[in-house]
Amino acid sequence: MASAKHIFVTGGVTSSLGKGIIASSLAKILQARGFSVTIQKFDPYLNIDPGTLNPYEHGECYVTDDGAETDLDLGHYERFLNIPTSQANNITTGRIYYQVIQQERQGAYLGKTVQVIPHITNEIKRNFVKLDETGKYDIIITEIGGCVGDIESLPFIEAVRQFKWERGSENVMVIHLTLVPYLKSAGELKTKPSQHSVKQLSEAGIQPDILICRTEQSLSAEIRKKLALFCNLDYNCVIEAKDTDTIYGVPLLMQEEKLDERVLQKLRLTAPKTADMTAWQEFVWQLKRPMEEITVALVGKYVELHDAYKSIVEAFIHAGVKHLCKVNIRWVQSELLTLENNLSLLESIDGILVAPGFGERGIEGKITAIKYARENNIPFFGICLGMQCACVEFARNVLGFEHSASTEMSKNTPYPIIDLMENQKNLTQKGGTMRLGAYACQVKNNTKAHKAYNSLHIQERHRHRYEFNNQYLEQFESAGMICSGLNPESKLVEIVEIPSHIWFVGTQFHPELKSTVANPHPLFVGFVGACLEKSKNN
Ligand code: GLN
Repeated sequence: MASAKHIFVTGGVTSSLGKGIIASSLAKILQARGFSVTIQKFDPYLNIDPGTLNPYEHGECYVTDDGAETDLDLGHYERFLNIPTSQANNITTGRIYYQVIQQERQGAYLGKTVQVIPHITNEIKRNFVKLDETGKYDIIITEIGGCVGDIESLPFIEAVRQFKWERGSENVMVIHLTLVPYLKSAGELKTKPSQHSVKQLSEAGIQPDILICRTEQSLSAEIRKKLALFCNLDYNCVIEAKDTDTIYGVPLLMQEEKLDERVLQKLRLTAPKTADMTAWQEFVWQLKRPMEEITVALVGKYVELHDAYKSIVEAFIHAGVKHLCKVNIRWVQSELLTLENNLSLLESIDGILVAPGFGERGIEGKITAIKYARENNIPFFGICLGMQCACVEFARNVLGFEHSASTEMSKNTPYPIIDLMENQKNLTQKGGTMRLGAYACQVKNNTKAHKAYNSLHIQERHRHRYEFNNQYLEQFESAGMICSGLNPESKLVEIVEIPSHIWFVGTQFHPELKSTVANPHPLFVGFVGACLEKSKNN
């Protein structure tokens, strides 16, 4: 029987207020107080998962160990809490309906009319407690995507209302996050949008327990009082979430605001200990006081939307702190690199990362960047498609295999250096069918990868359909690009590197997905280290 306490986080006024960061920050403090906490996200869109969404549409698709393609907020949960999430941590409306419709086809509703209420809401509630069934958690935080008042979030809000009523307010609470805008011309913070948002939630039958106000300016006592009065809240349950220069500062702000205290009071919990946030404080302190600075080029085709590369950006922050170094990112649109004078975009750069991706657009630009890095001994890190491009570049320009390519871009290439995996060949269904999730990788002794990991057995997360074509491995290795990481069962090439180069590493997996504040990813740490070395020699 389930026994965790549940905290729901809803949002109002606008989207993008940072519900994921608030949920992660609260979870972090509760974790530091000795609770076992997890976070799950319920998204109100109809896709079964974000796996089929264009990154421009929804930002990065985050992948879990168990191979779920999920919302990028799960990346924040993992980076803050340093514990893995899973398939059960991200549920969409599409998945809920899919489950209900499948059950209907199996006759599970015994001739009844299947309706949003109670069948969809029951299915939502069943999913609220799925992680509870593992018995691993004291507290489960559930972020409800979208804004209160959106038509598509209604069933979720109704499910929260019922769930709270059924379990009682000492077991279930609701935190509502809103915006308190500052009107420059009036020189005033405005509470009205928040009042309306809480009113809307109340109309749906939910009185929030805590209001968190995203704001540019500090909330005065007067403003807090006003919000408390008109939103029907205790004065100390109006919490300020002032803009910060780093998301990693938010747990400390929430702790100052005593968010954890309020939550524990509401849920009638006694914490095993006071929060020890020393390691976190040190991280933030260090982050704000770098001793060095480097600039790396992030070459990709979705660079206009930085969220498309969220985990890479965060992994650079973690690795940077480890080196007491600020990592500036120069966003380079790979398509521009193929134009004339293209290389000026890479001028005086300390390192080049070629990003993951799909499809043909921007490929030649990525290959141009890789050639530049290889020939000029500039630290290079290729991730997934970035690694595949590095192999193609090597085949074309070192081995002299003219027109070599990945069959993803060129079906009839004479040199299919990168080819569709055997078990992908007959697949027609798109969602959830790539090589997904954690796979073992054996690292070769005395390589850059070995030096970085300091281990010969690792596990990393994947999301791809194409692979290095082993038919060419011998030729690659004798010409100077070696395989330094191999899947022990399938023999798929997972890491390639050029030993004679300052730092040239490509990975078929996505190391960025496993970088956390507590455990910066070893390859990012290695890459940043090489970039620093390079910048000192420059
Ligand atoms: N498009 C490539 C593949 O499917 C690379 C995918 C990626 O970069 N995640 O293999």
